Amino acid sequence: MPGTPSSPPFDMASRIPELAPLARESVLLYPRAGAPGVRDSSLGGPLLWPAGEPWPMCAESGHWKPLRTPTEAVGPEPVAMVPVVQLYARDVPELPFPAGTDVLQIVWCTLVHDGHGATVLPKVYWRHEETVARGAVLPRPPEPREADEEFLPRPCTVSPTRVVEYPNADLPPDLGQRLGGRFEEIEAETGLSYHELATTVQSKAGGYPGWVQEPRWPRCGCGRRMEHLLSVTATEPVDGPWFPSDGQPPGTPGAPGRDRRAAPDRPSADGIGHGMDMGDLGGVYLFVCLHCPDRPYAHRYDC
Ligand SMILES: [Zn+2]
Ligand SMILES: [Zn+2]
Repeated sequence: MPGTPSSPPFDMASRIPELAPLARESVLLYPRAGAPGVRDSSLGGPLLWPAGEPWPMCAESGHWKPLRTPTEAVGPEPVAMVPVVQLYARDVPELPFPAGTDVLQIVWCTLVHDGHGATVLPKVYWRHEETVARGAVLPRPPEPREADEEFLPRPCTVSPTRVVEYPNADLPPDLGQRLGGRFEEIEAETGLSYHELATTVQSKAGGYPGWVQEPRWPRCGCGRRMEHLLSVTATEPVDGPWFPSDGQPPGTPGAPGRDRRAAPDRPSADGIGHGMDMGDLGGVYLFVCLHCPDRPYAHRYDC
């Protein structure tokens, strides 16, 4: 159910009109530990997967597991990938679903792949819910015989929440320099920096990647820069302007609206997020080419 975070984001564009062309809608996912089903949008939850379709296995030779003893490649036998994201069009219609599809699924191999950005290896699937649901659905995917726990999500519900955000590291440097004084004025007024008020680093669809390092936007084989599809980050807000006032994102079952008086005690931080450290609070960003019909995709790991 759509909603807004507790403190409506500062209206940056009315205060700084130069930023208006850079505004992007982002759908914040607010993962919370739970028990989503195959017909639910989720992060780390079970996927609506056709029983007759082989589960994706990673056969990359040389993928390896950090802190494994001995630290070495985990061997030539394929390793099962794990469910990471499932988003239905009814929950996040903003996603660029190819014609005839209404489910996005992302799985990845949790191990480190040196030839692919030294991180997980994701695969992206677009499906049609009713077509899959008409047939037999895979009851449970195979367990990976080796997994890096830092990239193994626990099942989470999601609460897609629409916000407007602005670039952090994608802010053109000359513009950032010109606006520096006004950012300082706003910070003096609100006690919050431009980055805190106008940018997000959390799991989300669309919007800007929450780059920690320099932006590295992938290019498609067709020559165009890919678009940000979604991010899965280890960071989720536990306070600040993007944290819901009652601790639960709007629409969470059992969360009695936005009224603090009626709200239960704040949930412990234990329920927030998918539980992945992702290599010291990193993030994996997925990108997609919207021009090529087969939707090529790429990923970046940022930390
Ligand atoms: Zn692998
Ligand atoms: Zn392309």
